[in-house]
This record gives sequence, C-alpha cells and structure tokens, in this order.
Amino acid sequence: MSMATFIKAFKANHSGFRGECNCGREFYNPDDCWDFEDEEIEYLIKDPNATELLDDVRYVEFNNREYVIGCDCWQEKARHFINLISNHDVQIAKYLNGERARKIYEAEQVQIIKILSDDGTQDPEFDDDIPF
Ligand SMILES: [Zn+2]
Repeated sequence: MSMATFIKAFKANHSGFRGECNCGREFYNPDDCWDFEDEEIEYLIKDPNATELLDDVRYVEFNNREYVIGCDCWQEKARHFINLISNHDVQIAKYLNGERARKIYEAEQVQIIKILSDDGTQDPEFDDDIPF
C-alpha cells in the first residue's frame, strides 16, 4: 500500500478554505479569498503557525483523529498503519470475511416482521426483498 492509496482510503469527505490539523497547525488556501473575513488572510500570512496551501484544506481520518493532508505530522503514523496493513493483509482479509459472516449470521437470526395492508395482504412498501 502506498501513501497515495492510504490517503485515498482514509480521506475525509469534507474540505475547506481554512482548517486546523490535529497537531494544532493552521492551513489555508489563499485562492479562496472570497471566503475570508476582512484582514483574515493578512493575519494568516503573518502567523508563523499557519501554512499556505495551493489547494483546499483536505483531511485524512484515522486513529480517531483528523489530520490536514498537507501537514507532515501524521505521515509517520500513517506509515506504521501502512506497514501493519501490508504485512498482515491476508490476516486482515480473513478477519473482515469472518466479521462479514458473523454479521450475516446475526442478521439472519432476526425474525422478519410482515407488515400487512388493511386488506390483509403484504404491504408492497415493505417487501421482504427490498426492505428499504
Ligand atoms: Zn499536523
């Protein structure tokens, strides 16, 4: 697994013109200048804790934390996860397949409750094959 694959797999579903990494470092995209308040961009440019990015601030989420992709603080931790996943890929696949089978078994133990229309027939909105 490469770092690019890791980022693709663990990226968050949101981004923005400004954001803070888990380490406390601030990131911003000056090209989104219409989103900033008056003098906000000038403040960020002078802030030694703020880093300018060439694109929107995007995140990866793992280990119950959110990191800015443009920050260096999380990459060593990510390499640890990449090595763990790569070195135990067969075991992880077995675990995920086992969990899938266990969840299917548990779901099959739940009794299906039929919802009937006023005339006593199966309500088509609650068809057994398409429950949602
Ligand atoms: Zn960081």
